[in-house]
Order: sequence, then C-alpha cells, then structure tokens
Amino acid sequence: MPNVEDVAEWLDAPDRRALISWRAVWCVMAHVAIVGGGPAGLSTALFAAKNGLETTVFDTDETAMHYAHLFNYPAVESIGGDEFVERARAQIEEYGAERREEEVTAIETNGSGFVVKTDDGGIAADYVVLASGQSRGLADGLGCDRNDDGTVRVDVNMRTGVDGVYAAGWVARKDKVQAAISVGDGAAAALDILSAEKGKPFHDFDTPESVE
Ligand SMILES: Cc1cc2nc3c(=O)[nH]c(=O)nc-3n(C[C@H](O)[C@H](O)[C@H](O)COP(=O)(O)OP(=O)(O)OC[C@H]3O[C@@H](n4cnc5c(N)ncnc54)[C@H](O)[C@@H]3O)c2cc1C
Repeated sequence: MPNVEDVAEWLDAPDRRALISWRAVWCVMAHVAIVGGGPAGLSTALFAAKNGLETTVFDTDETAMHYAHLFNYPAVESIGGDEFVERARAQIEEYGAERREEEVTAIETNGSGFVVKTDDGGIAADYVVLASGQSRGLADGLGCDRNDDGTVRVDVNMRTGVDGVYAAGWVARKDKVQAAISVGDGAAAALDILSAEKGKPFHDFDTPESVE
C-alpha cells in the first residue's frame, strides 16, 4: 500500500503510468470511449465492460453488417448481420456498457486523457478506441499515423502511436475485412487496455464452473 506522499506525487505527475497506478490503488474505473458500433466496437465493449471498465460506445449505426449475412463466423452456422448486431448490442448492455447513437465529431486530448465530443455534448475518457470502419478522419485529429494505403497504423495490440488511442477493425485494415477479424481486433484492444489498468497481462478466461 503506498503512503500519502506517494499518492500526492502521482497526482502531480502528468504521465499516464502514474495515473493508472493511482486508479488501481483507489479502485476508480477507467473509462473507455469507443467510436463505432460494428463488430470491432461491440467486441471491444464486450471485453471492456465484462471486466469492469466504464464503457461508452458511440455509433451512427452505419455498420456494413446491415448488408451482410454470415456463414463464416465460427460456431455460428448462419446469422443475419442485423441480428448479429442486435444480439451483440444486448450483450454489451447486459454488462453495463452504455451505447449512444451519436456521431463523434472531434476528440481532443486533455492531460493524460481525452474529451470525446458530439453535438449533444461530450464525455471524458481515459482511453479511446477508434472502431469507425472506413471513417478514419478522427485519427488524424489525434495525431495517429496512417499507412500508405490510408489505414490507421497500429501494432499487434491495435495501439496507435498515440498513448491511449487504439484503432480496431476496418479502420486499420484495407483488405481482408471480415466480421471475425474486426471482433478479434476489438478483443485485442480491450485486453491491452485491461492489462495496462491491472498492471499485468490480462486474459478473459472463463471455465465451465463459471456457468451459473
Ligand atoms: C455486402 C457486404 C457483405 C458482407 N458479408 C460478410 C460476410 O459474409 N462475412 C463477414 O465476415 N463479413 C462480411 N462483410 C464485412 C463486414 O461487414 C465487415 O468486415 C465488418 O462490418 C467490419 O466491422 P467494423 O466494426 O470494423 O466496421 P463497421 O462495421 O463498418 O462499423 C463501423 C461503425 O462505426 C460507426 N461510425 C463511423 N464513424 C463514426 C463516428 N464519427 N461516430 C460514431 N460512429 C461512427 C458507423 O456508423 C459503423 O456503425 C460484408 C460487408 C458487406 C458490405
């Protein structure tokens, strides 16, 4: 347990690592803002909310899933894109994620965090996950790099070069775009955030005993 001087020093420290440590000590939930409610954004939200992060999904409901019918999602023989989205929305809301049908118009940095703006107002967030499909403009405002093909540059954990900003799914890919791939990207981003928050590698492993 840190002493009072340590906490005071961390509060003065502008860097993310110190604030993460402070949150861990006082059990304050980090807030993840997700731009986009397609497979990438909904998957990010599922892993984040299920594991205790405050989670907000902003979505303009223009996911390509509205035009899809999946026969290639493992363990699911056949599902319409609309049903996929509806079921995933219900699933994240069961875990406490908030879904707002609002367009994110700008994202600004604010100290070590972010302010996510819509025409209806804004929220403060500790992490931002861009899951906005083929809309990539918000990444530029945050200073994220792009690849030559226009996609947002990320590493294997979907981190952009900007601390606390992730890009998952179509936003970070040109070709080979599938629902299963976007879902995987979203999971990777959420697990990386959870690992940062918990200060050690985090896996969302359940077992048969977890079933009520
Ligand atoms: C005709 C068609 C058929 C397809 N069939 C299949 C198939 O059979 N199998 C398969 O695996 N894949 C299929 N796909 C591909 C699949 O739909 C995509 O891979 C998947 O939707 C990508 O998910 P995503 O979350 O990365 O992006 P998207 O699904 O594009 O979601 C992005 C979301 O972000 C929102 N958004 C964007 N900007 C903002 C903003 N500023 N503020 C708030 N919200 C914002 C959009 O409204 C959208 O809801 C098909 C696609 C098409 C077009």
